[in-house]
Amino acid sequence: MSDRSSSKVSSGSCSHEEAGETPRHAVPEPTVDIRNLTFQYPAKAGNPRFGLRLPSLTAAAGERMALYGPSGCGKSTLLDLIAGILRADTGTVNIAGAELGAMTEAERRSHRIRHIGFVFQDFPLVEYLDAFDNVLLPFRLTRDLKLDSQARGRARDLLTELGLPGYERRRPHELSQGERQRLAIARALVTDPCLLLADEPTAGLDPHRSQKTLDLLEEICSQHRLTLLLVSHEPAVLERFDHRLNVQELVVESAS
Ligand code: ADP
Repeated sequence: MSDRSSSKVSSGSCSHEEAGETPRHAVPEPTVDIRNLTFQYPAKAGNPRFGLRLPSLTAAAGERMALYGPSGCGKSTLLDLIAGILRADTGTVNIAGAELGAMTEAERRSHRIRHIGFVFQDFPLVEYLDAFDNVLLPFRLTRDLKLDSQARGRARDLLTELGLPGYERRRPHELSQGERQRLAIARALVTDPCLLLADEPTAGLDPHRSQKTLDLLEEICSQHRLTLLLVSHEPAVLERFDHRLNVQELVVESAS
């Protein structure tokens, strides 16, 4: 296992124009390019302040990287910094060619919605929506994305690509566990992101299902040339990744 806090840039990443437009992979930049990042949560009386220091992290288009470390070491914090939910105190966080530090909170949110897909543990779906509307959910959550015929077509294509053709009107409870996962992955891809953030996507799955889920994520990322950052602490998952980042090594704690 070759742990490292920096993964070499090998090729360009995607760059969406406005939502709804199609050009991808147009700008030769890494999808993720972080330099000299420091971050600390605000001080709370009596509590030590948790913080991270990350000198450099780059991930090119199509690159897959695992983030690991024990519970509480900052994996979710790092994902939130990459997603622009949290803002770095110093350094630069460049995602899909745009510097998050220069953006307002609203701009970061809009950037996140257009460029990043999320895959969560348990693959949560909205039970009262059918499969088609579950896939299109990101479009209903924001005005930054236009729910037009192109978006609907993409949702249909993804359902087919993920082995769910003709399942549009089924509700989540009418799907198997594997089908629900594939539906959640279709939803993560419907905005045509260039970065997929997967937070413990195989936690709680049996080894067979876990391998199948990873196979699918790998295949999807390679087909769509998506950068994948996946959080896990499971050795069987980690050994599938050439690039691994031990988040515990980034931790800085100081008294408040
Ligand atoms: P992991 O995802 O690896 O389990 P987290 O990123 O959730 O770890 O948490 C890292 C550390 O940051 C923990 O010590 C946690 O208590 C602390 N932390 C998380 N959220 C906040 C917050 N909003 N304010 C202050 N400390 C926080």
